[in-house]
Amino acid sequence: MRRRICYALIWMMLYTVPVVHAQDITALKMHKQRLYRQYTRLAASAQDTTMDARYYHLSLRIRFRPNLLEGEVEALFQSRVDNLNTIVLDLDDAMNVTAVGASAGAFQHNNQKLRLTLKKTYHRNDTLRVRVRYRGLPANDGGDWFVFDTIEDSLDHVWTLSEPYGARYWWPCKDTPADKADSVDIRVTVPAGLWVASNGLLADSVLTDSTNTFFWKERYPIAPYLVSLAVAPYARFRDSYPLPGGDVLPLYFYVYPSEEARAREVFKETRDHLDVLSAYFGPYPFAKEKYGLARFGWGGGMEHQTLTSVGRVSEAWRFLYVHELGHQWFGDALTCASWRDIWLNEGFASYSEALYAEARGYGELPPGRAAYDAYMSSQLYYGDETVYREDTTSVAGLFDRVVYDKGSWILHMLRGQLGDTLFFKGLRRYARDSTLLYTSVRTADVRSAFEEVSGRALKTFFDQWLLYPFYPSYEVGWQTSTSDSGSVLTVTIRQEQPRPVYQLNLELKAYYSNGADTVLTLFNDSRDQTYRFVLSHAPVNLRLDPGNKVLKNVRYRNEAAYTPRITIDSARPNPFREQIEIRVTSWRNVPPELTVFDVSGRRLRRLKARVAGAFHDYYYAWDGRTDTGRRVAAGIYFIADAEGKAAARVLYLK
Ligand SMILES: [Zn+2]
Repeated sequence: MRRRICYALIWMMLYTVPVVHAQDITALKMHKQRLYRQYTRLAASAQDTTMDARYYHLSLRIRFRPNLLEGEVEALFQSRVDNLNTIVLDLDDAMNVTAVGASAGAFQHNNQKLRLTLKKTYHRNDTLRVRVRYRGLPANDGGDWFVFDTIEDSLDHVWTLSEPYGARYWWPCKDTPADKADSVDIRVTVPAGLWVASNGLLADSVLTDSTNTFFWKERYPIAPYLVSLAVAPYARFRDSYPLPGGDVLPLYFYVYPSEEARAREVFKETRDHLDVLSAYFGPYPFAKEKYGLARFGWGGGMEHQTLTSVGRVSEAWRFLYVHELGHQWFGDALTCASWRDIWLNEGFASYSEALYAEARGYGELPPGRAAYDAYMSSQLYYGDETVYREDTTSVAGLFDRVVYDKGSWILHMLRGQLGDTLFFKGLRRYARDSTLLYTSVRTADVRSAFEEVSGRALKTFFDQWLLYPFYPSYEVGWQTSTSDSGSVLTVTIRQEQPRPVYQLNLELKAYYSNGADTVLTLFNDSRDQTYRFVLSHAPVNLRLDPGNKVLKNVRYRNEAAYTPRITIDSARPNPFREQIEIRVTSWRNVPPELTVFDVSGRRLRRLKARVAGAFHDYYYAWDGRTDTGRRVAAGIYFIADAEGKAAARVLYLK
């Protein structure tokens, strides 16, 4: 999933804190901004672990004016325990259950749980079939799970986006990414004139004067959140992609009627996206079915299995299309078993974008390492959130940019640690491992794949980047002396961050007075470490990690002037009425002073840190007043550090 919105929209201020580096404002990549509504309902619902989902048959009817969803879901489960008398499914209370059948004899439905009493007792490995009939208007309780929408203000449009907790809002299931069904059938009846796009292959369609019925069959294992519907009077066209071995993968496109001509142009590239990603990851994982794109009304993309939903048809969205295609391998064929490991979906999909940049170029940069490096630089993350998401109760928190940006940097850094050959071998091992493919996975599975191909223990590598906020901050000192064998370079490296002590291979580039340079390598794994290198000449300068293979801050002791990093991590609430709290990370030794500017650049207020935290973090507050105590007018203001290296845009309401 990737949210993409226009930075210029002021209403965005209602939901997000745009934090930008002042000097980068013009170069800001709009698509890095994401928007999520807060979803505070406790999401960590206890799923029924007494049975495994095997198969779901969804039979749905969608009515308009009044809008209504009528459904009958038949589900096959396998008991994991003896003496099984009841099972519990997830289903939102807005769906009114009218009947249950097959093995289910009675039901209780409340608090998003549907408890089914079984007609007989089942034992371990027994298969049981239940049927649930229900109707209602899906509640979009903090999300856009099942949306009755319109195109061009008049055409009926229904779309779903069930990640992470939305399947239960429109169909009863075990709503967890940890339990994939082996297959799913989806039969949907809609008014005549509408088309239904969904997962897998279209097995049948019945078009009458009053209704259209579509029957989709997904024969690959699928997690409930990846089951989707896209319903509209779609313009439809197809393409095909040649597979190794002579088969052909059909490509299906469903777009709004007014966009068809543009879509036929823009989506021509899909074949090339498949070329690029399958060269890196191995064959497209749903080769016996299809890949497709369906237009929907959400401002981003969602990697529904075999059918990505996208919010716009535009060449400018190229990297988003690549991101969602990358998810077909990482997210769909291999699905994070727990939302805490969401980086296994989003970090990998974001890294797919960088690989695409390397293969096809990025901006003005031609294909190659420079394009890749530039793309990775656009995904830098220096903040205080951890990639591992302990708290899964807020959708905004779950899809924090840390899992996209720092998540993709974990792969970039692993590539730096292992070298290209082992890294890509490990990536393919993970993507193609027959014991993992089409299952739900954990970080340990990625680690094992890379450990197997490299023969290296990688637990520390993953733990230090997944479980801790921030990044290492190195202080580098060096001096030279002469010996019989040449010039001796002594380098001391101190890790200044509070914790952990990072363990990494690092490169050190030595520059000579004649313009030549040489790259030295070292392994750094303690708080203070000293290295000695014998060189033919004394270097005149030194740079740690010149290729930016590690997320870090570096300070050179020999250099009086250096540029410490400063970032504004958060400004909340934004917009604000009473007071806005600002959090800054700075590697300076004194708390930085912040200044509030209006949009014309006038300085209104100087802010001093109120609290200093343990991680080089400082806390500020602004009450909407100038230095002289006057209340400012409602509007947009910028809060920046003295050198203009970091700035936040805030909205003051009266
Ligand atoms: Zn994504």
